[in-house]
Amino acid sequence: MSQQMQGQPMIILGEDAQRMKDKSAQEHNIAAARAVAESVRSTLGPKGMDKMLVNSLGDIVVTNDGVTILDEMDIDNPTAEMVVEVAETQEDEAGDGTTTAVAIAGELLKNAEELLEQDIHPTAIMRGFDMASEKAREEVDNIAIDVDRDDEDILRKVAETSMTGKGAEQHKDVLAGLIVDAAQAVTVEADDGSVVVDLAFVDVETQTGRSAGESELLEGGVIDKDPVHEDMPTDFEDADVLLLDTALELDEAEVDTQVSVTDPSQLQTFLDQEEEELRAMVDKIVDLGADVVLCQKGIDDMVQHYLAKEGILAVRRVKKSDIEFLTEVIDGAVVSDLESATAADLGSASFRRDADAELFYIEGTGEVTHGVTLLLRGSTEHVVDELERGVEDALDVVTDTIISGQVLAGGGAPEVELASRLRDYADGVSGREQLAVESFADAIELVPRVLAENAGLDSIDALVDLRAAHEGGDQRAGLNVFTGDVEDTFETGVVEPAHVKRQAMSSATEAANLVLKIDDIISAGDLSTEGEDEGGAGGPGGGMGGMGGGMGGMM
Ligand code: ADP
Ligand code: MG
Repeated sequence: MSQQMQGQPMIILGEDAQRMKDKSAQEHNIAAARAVAESVRSTLGPKGMDKMLVNSLGDIVVTNDGVTILDEMDIDNPTAEMVVEVAETQEDEAGDGTTTAVAIAGELLKNAEELLEQDIHPTAIMRGFDMASEKAREEVDNIAIDVDRDDEDILRKVAETSMTGKGAEQHKDVLAGLIVDAAQAVTVEADDGSVVVDLAFVDVETQTGRSAGESELLEGGVIDKDPVHEDMPTDFEDADVLLLDTALELDEAEVDTQVSVTDPSQLQTFLDQEEEELRAMVDKIVDLGADVVLCQKGIDDMVQHYLAKEGILAVRRVKKSDIEFLTEVIDGAVVSDLESATAADLGSASFRRDADAELFYIEGTGEVTHGVTLLLRGSTEHVVDELERGVEDALDVVTDTIISGQVLAGGGAPEVELASRLRDYADGVSGREQLAVESFADAIELVPRVLAENAGLDSIDALVDLRAAHEGGDQRAGLNVFTGDVEDTFETGVVEPAHVKRQAMSSATEAANLVLKIDDIISAGDLSTEGEDEGGAGGPGGGMGGMGGGMGGMM
């Protein structure tokens, strides 16, 4: 193992270090990556199952969302982590299609393994996969259906398709309507005709206790907090609102300071001083003309009392994200230093209290107000959390569709069509790459196969029927997972944005190639925490010390 390198000190692997090269390294990596991909496969599609994940603290997450499953899984294997990153890229770039991307990555690696066994060099496989992925994305453009961005019917279908089989499924018609309205409310067309959908202006809030069907879309924002004092007013037509991210309290340091008093009158002076400072805060707020104070931090009892006396509504410990969102809604600024605040920092809004729901509804009344709130309701915390994940995905796909105006028929239709086109394309590809392009085509057909499998249908029959329909020229033939029939899924309303599919092809290819490129694993042996011992286990290649995790310790 020891090797003298020119001008460099000899590097020797630590006693516990392990090393794998070439074939065994590849096999190991492929196995790890495939294990991750297989763990999410059963959740794909409307008939996919959910997973329950329990973390070390005993917290439970029940979900069908690929990226959430992988994030919550305590994965302690460097290769497997690369696959998790694919899901994250897919989530960031497209907001949906994470399970698809990860499952395809796993299938690409499975097929690559067969090619490796035939002694095809990894470089040729990677090149073939890249060619196929590029071609597939090009063909997505060719099969994509152009739709009108304002076509609410299509937008709703896109939202519903992405929610099918998720926690949001049961009330998807109500939710799809709210989601489309929300996205349209924050859509602006620029002078050059380009369209921007700014989801930062859509705040998704959740509340437990009622049915998901009672979710609503509100102009403005909501805050699920109580007033700090029961004598405070709660409803305003047009309030001047102060947003504060510092406490209305005396500094900790001041409170903790020890005061030595020699007679009771000194103590009284000290207390008077404190009260005076707190009183000054209230005076400042009154001088500013604020009717409402929303404070991110705490509010001293004395301040609460005085504010109530002044007829000012105050709410404390408002979430930072809510405060930030409200700056847009009420057109106000966040104040960090009360003393230097001016009336210009205040925003204006109407306030309405729903005591049953323990919510304030806040609507901007100024000239420039943005922002809508999607208030999601559900019976329990687990229900609303999964609902929120489904709705976030749906918001993203609706946004994708508004921006690009390009959709595809779902239910495996694009995968079968692309596979067929890739096989034609492969005929013209020379060398070993041809086999890799064909492998890629087979790999993406995993989607219809798994959709069928998860629905309890025969996956081979389904694929045969689908291929036959596509051979016959029906580009939009997809699988109806509820009946097992092959039909025009665009007509039946299973619609996905083209962007999600395009991104899934490239995320999956990147991940597979990343894994295939590795031919040498040098692990710092028993070191169980990442990067703990930088110098202990650098290999001749250098820089790979502390790869973390035991090599064998997959999940
Ligand atoms: P992902 O994380 O990849 O988005 P999903 O579990 O959301 O995974 O499943 C998406 C797949 O399910 C897509 O291929 C989509 O076309 C398919 N799908 C969604 N609704 C239907 C439906 N009603 N019938 C058939 N396929 C559907
Ligand atoms: Mg999805």
